[in-house]
Order: sequence, then C-alpha cells, then structure tokens
Amino acid sequence: MSFDSLGLSEQLLKSINKQGYTKPSPIQEQAIPAVLSGRDVMAAAQTGTGKTAGFTLPILEILSKGPKPKNNQVRALILTPTRELAAQVEHSVQTYGKNLELNSTVVFGGVKINPQIKRLHRGVDILVATPGRLLDLYNQKAVRFDQLEIFILDEADRMLDMGFIHDIRKVLAFLPKRRQNLMFSATFSNDIRKLAKTIINDPVEISVSPRNTTVESVKQWIHPVDKKEKSALLAYLIEENQWTQVLVFGRTKHGCDRLTRQLNTKGITSVAIHGNKSQNQRTRALADFKKGKVQVMVATDIAARGIDINQLPQVVNFDLPNVPEDYVHRIGRTGRAGSQGHAVSLVSADEVKQLSDIEHLIKQLLKRTLIDGFEPDHDVPITSLNKKIPKPKGAKNTSNNRTIKSKSNKNINNWKSKNKSNDGNKKRQGGNRSPRK
Ligand code: ADP
Ligand code: MG
Repeated sequence: MSFDSLGLSEQLLKSINKQGYTKPSPIQEQAIPAVLSGRDVMAAAQTGTGKTAGFTLPILEILSKGPKPKNNQVRALILTPTRELAAQVEHSVQTYGKNLELNSTVVFGGVKINPQIKRLHRGVDILVATPGRLLDLYNQKAVRFDQLEIFILDEADRMLDMGFIHDIRKVLAFLPKRRQNLMFSATFSNDIRKLAKTIINDPVEISVSPRNTTVESVKQWIHPVDKKEKSALLAYLIEENQWTQVLVFGRTKHGCDRLTRQLNTKGITSVAIHGNKSQNQRTRALADFKKGKVQVMVATDIAARGIDINQLPQVVNFDLPNVPEDYVHRIGRTGRAGSQGHAVSLVSADEVKQLSDIEHLIKQLLKRTLIDGFEPDHDVPITSLNKKIPKPKGAKNTSNNRTIKSKSNKNINNWKSKNKSNDGNKKRQGGNRSPRK
C-alpha cells in the first residue's frame, strides 16, 4: 500500500515524500482513512510505529478545507503528557503541513506565558499543549474553543499514568459537544477504555500489534551485577563497546543526577533529564544529546516518554522500572522505525521481582550475560515464566495482566525496512566515537 491511496492531498503527499517515507506504517494505513471519514478513532500501536503522522496527516487534510480560526480560537487541539513531546508533535505538524496554509503553535509550562498568549491571539488552526498550561491560558482567556473541530489525546496511557485525568476532564468541559475525538496510545488499558467512554463516540478501534510485545528489532539482554558496581559497569560498557550515544534510564531523579556526576568524573560526557530540571535545561540536554555533543543522557521514565531520537542505537536500564510496562516504553526508544537497536539492563539481586514481572509481561526470559570482573556476589535468582515471584508484603501491585486482542498481526517493522538501511547504526556501534572533552 502506498500513501497515494489514503485520500491525502498533493501538498501532503509532497511533504511525506520529502521525509523519505515510502509507505505508510500499519497504524497509519488504518488510522488515516478512519480519521478522514470524520469518525472518532481510538488507536493503539507500540512506540515508534508512526502514530504522530497517523493523526497529524489526516487532521491537516481536514483542516485545510474549513474556515480560518477567529481571534483566540483553535480548530484542533492536541494534548500531550510532556513538554518535549508537545514540542516534537508540533514540529511534525509544521513539517507535514509545510505546503498548506495552516498555522500551529505549541504551549507548555516552565516557560513564560506571555509570548504564548500573543501567539494565540490571532487564532491557530492547530494547538499542541500540555494540560496544565492550557488550563492557565484558558483561565486567562487567551484561548477559546468555539471553533474547535477536532480533539486529540496523544499518548493517552501516559497521560493517565502521570495523573492528568482531572486536567483532561476540565479541558473537556470547555470543548464544544460536537467535535471529532481521536485517542492514540501505546497500549489500551482498562483505565484508558474507561476514559475513552467519556470522550469518544462510537469509535473506530484500531490496534495493530499485540500489546506489550517488545519491538522485534531490539536485541535485549541483562547483566547481573551487584548494585554498588552498577555505575562502574556502565562506564566499562560504554568504553568497551565504544557507545557514542546511549540513553540510560534511572528510577529516581536523584539517582539520575548522581549517575551523571559519576560518569562525567570518568570523562564520559553525560546529562540528566527529569522533572526537576527547568524547561531550558531539558531542551538543551535533549538538543546536545541529539547532536552528539554529549554521549549519555540519563533520564527518568516520565522525562523520556515520547522522545523520538532517530536511530538511537543503545538503551541501558540502569535500574529496572517498578512498572513493567515502562520497560516496553524504555526499550521502544531504540530500534525505532525498524532499525536494529540494543537494550541492556543492569540487574541486581534485589530487582528480581521487577525482572520477573517484565519477563511475564513480554512473555520471554531475558538472556543473562556476566561481565568479567563484575560477577555479582549476590546472585540474581533464577526466574521462570511458569512462576511469578510474589510481591513483598505491603507492596502495591504495579502490574496488570490485561490482554488485548490484536486485529492485525502484521510485522510492524516491515513498513520502514525499505526506507532506511541499518548501516548508519552499525557504523555508530563499531567506532566513530566522537572526541571527548
Ligand atoms: P510513535 O508516536 O508511534 O511512538 P512516532 O510518530 O514518533 O512514533 O514515529 C517514529 C518515527 O518513525 C519518527 O522518526 C518518524 O519520523 C518515523 N516515521 C513515521 N512514519 C513513517 C513512515 N511512514 N515511514 C518511515 N518513517 C516514518
Ligand atoms: Mg507518539
């Protein structure tokens, strides 16, 4: 299937072509016609499968036909959970919409509100926003929704995880009753379905791969190691494998900062990105990492959610996440758009419960590799897919074992394989390290 048969205008096809996309991804193939039909859509597909273009392209198409927005009015509202993601989605809107006469802007917290108020004054066709700042702007009468045609909730699952449910409800109360609603998510949990019932009307439901399977193009393994040796092991792995661009996940903000300091002391340039950093710091960290000015970015789950870095070759879990679904999101940062990626987890004995939960979720045992000189004194107990490790007394249950039916089991990586070869990736893995400062 090609983009030509999806019902998009010449102008959009031109910008798609310019991006080098040769065919739509499975989610795009189904979502684009569904959105164009004017129906509500609820779509789930794993991270890195092109959901952004799946809703951006058809809404650009729809909006290119209607009337211009009046002062302070918005025609399509896209809500995203994080600032980085908001900026990224708006960048996609700009890129795909280059040949159309539509305008867009992005608003989020942590930066001055006045420039945002100004930008909203003349009205915008597409507004990308995080919920908190949007509510502020609404309360200051900087934005109005009388002309709203389409409401989009991106990364809906993470919105709920991050506790935005009340903000979302407040926003919904401002919107006109007649509108088209789109919900995009990596997973469909029961909570998402509950929320959907209150937003969406008789939706087209799209789900292109079984939930919580890890991206097939990602090689995953673990290194059992003692907790106190983790940062030394990480430094060793970076040096030994000449990793030049590594995204490292930590569980806590404090832990991310500490690790960054330790790596920098060893001459491995690194930055941390998490909720306690100012917006400017976060933007700069991400830009430096993308450009290759720093080798390592250490991030919490929330900060990293939704960030798309082209062909990120290497992800490291410095700690295993408490919520096993986060593991799937983390490793979704590599092997994106069909290129081969690697995900390594440093696992200490006290994390066996998290390990077992992850293995049950992804339905596979992770291969264990010991590194010479870092063999743990405290062994990580053997796990099995037949037996769950009981939660410690008093602990909250963090996993949920919902299943979802897959309507299409196509290999989600086929769509990209012709576009970009994996060569760039290999080169990056095998040397070419950037000079250290
Ligand atoms: P998701 O929201 O599903 O996690 P994104 O929308 O961020 O994924 O897309 C992941 C990557 O795939 C982006 O770098 C994007 O440019 C790329 N991409 C999207 N659609 C296509 C396509 N049809 N062909 C090739 N690459 C694509
Ligand atoms: Mg996305």
